[in-house]
Amino acid sequence: MIDFRSDTVTKPCNKMRDIMYHAPVGDDVYGDDESVNQLEAYARLRFNVADALFCSSGTQANLLALMAHCERGDEYICGQSAHNYKFEGGGAAVLGSIQPQPIENEADGSLCFTKIAAAIKPDDSHFAKTRLLSLENTIGGKVLGIDYLIKAREFVDQHNLALHLDGARAFNAAAELNLDISDITKHFDSVSICLSKGLGAPVGSLLLGSEQLIAKARRWRKVLGGGMRQAGMLAAAGQYALENNTQRLVDDHSNARYLAQQLSEISGFEVNMSNTTNMVYATFDNSINITKLAADLKAHDIVFSPSKQLRLVTHLGITKADIDTFIKALTAHI
Ligand SMILES: *Cc1c(COP(=O)(O)O)cnc(C)c1O
Repeated sequence: MIDFRSDTVTKPCNKMRDIMYHAPVGDDVYGDDESVNQLEAYARLRFNVADALFCSSGTQANLLALMAHCERGDEYICGQSAHNYKFEGGGAAVLGSIQPQPIENEADGSLCFTKIAAAIKPDDSHFAKTRLLSLENTIGGKVLGIDYLIKAREFVDQHNLALHLDGARAFNAAAELNLDISDITKHFDSVSICLSKGLGAPVGSLLLGSEQLIAKARRWRKVLGGGMRQAGMLAAAGQYALENNTQRLVDDHSNARYLAQQLSEISGFEVNMSNTTNMVYATFDNSINITKLAADLKAHDIVFSPSKQLRLVTHLGITKADIDTFIKALTAHI
């Protein structure tokens, strides 16, 4: 199966499964799971942070961060297209009594500081208390550069806000910028990292932050039903992913560029050629029946989501040869 729907579809390789099978485990709620403890210790070093927490998903890690930074009646500022606003079921409001204040994302995925400043509420009982700015990197595949992150840090310090990064794909940003991951994460008070996307672990995310923040998040994780017991088999997979699958993300990016190039040569498709790391965005004209095309290709074990704005994602399950197979099948069926 060649699956372009998302980098979440990656499956654990045999080596990873072997490591999961042999992972030492214990009850993590008692702090007894050696593999979870090892992953969290590894993360402290790898990201150069005070503390780290293994979470069941990116959604959970983001929610824990919001609930650790904000109290009931506080608000966080984020992008209109931020995952932790648009794609997480309104969790911050539903479960944290935290109000989102979305700001339209700029074309490059960033948030304009003038617009953010205008949305910060004065200390007045009419308003929620603005506590936190939440950014996302990469966002829609686009990379926020280091200059922007430095400015964001200066901005939140000036305005007495905390700064969170939804870093589900922060390693893609680091790969694209050719930087160590800590050069990205060091600007933030908290960061969520997905192990289960391009890094190829089956389950799990990390939340990074200060000891105090992680202690609070750990408490909320238990309250939300996320206190896992013998989670070490999953943590071991996560550590394997961090140790083995971050360097290769550049291959996904070059495969995405190759895919964009190939697709742009097929008439009827309009491909966004700007840098979108491991994602290719395209639109198509009326001559193309996308639903039928998706069904035809599915019969050849090639899968993509047939939406109006196509998003094709490259990941460790897709090779350059797979892209050739896809382009060939596409050409044959339009
Ligand atoms: C996938 C994703 C998440 C959430 O991760 P899940 O593990 O699917 O809950 C959060 N933020 C971004 C940007 C994502 O792409």
